[in-house]
Amino acid sequence: MQSFHVVGKISLLDDEQLFYELMCSKCKNFVRTKIIKAIDCVNCDQQAMLTPRCRFQVQITDASGSAIATLLGEPGENLLSMKAEQIHETINIKNESLPLLDIQHHLTDKVFRVQLKKSFSRNSDETPAKLFILSFAEKQDTLQLPAVSTSTNTGESSKRELDKVSSEEERKKLIIGR
Ligand SMILES: [Zn+2]
Repeated sequence: MQSFHVVGKISLLDDEQLFYELMCSKCKNFVRTKIIKAIDCVNCDQQAMLTPRCRFQVQITDASGSAIATLLGEPGENLLSMKAEQIHETINIKNESLPLLDIQHHLTDKVFRVQLKKSFSRNSDETPAKLFILSFAEKQDTLQLPAVSTSTNTGESSKRELDKVSSEEERKKLIIGR
């Protein structure tokens, strides 16, 4: 499965999301429930506790447009700065919501270099490819940099133009003066 990189912004979706899913602690098979409990896993045929795994979707926006991508496990925990157990505990035990506004605020104005993987559905050609975020890292001053350097360039080049003009005039003056 090939991965690729984009440089862009990450933002949380407005949709309500659960931010975690539960899976068999032994075989990691996804189990469709919201409550941690012991199960007889139908996948690995063992008794196991369910364990939470971070999972949610974000919007990635770069120069060419935007796309929805899924964060699964560690990259998701990193983005939220919360472990899957904390996410489950906050939502399901404390009955609180995640500090999404803080998280969104934290993401605003930041640019990330995001490693993505496309995952195609095995069964249907009609299902669009899903994007998964494999990793991401904040890029320092990425969006600001071109703007700053452009304006500096403009400033410098116009200064250089002025320098040239003035030096040419000086040269002329020098020539005339001779
Ligand atoms: Zn299992």
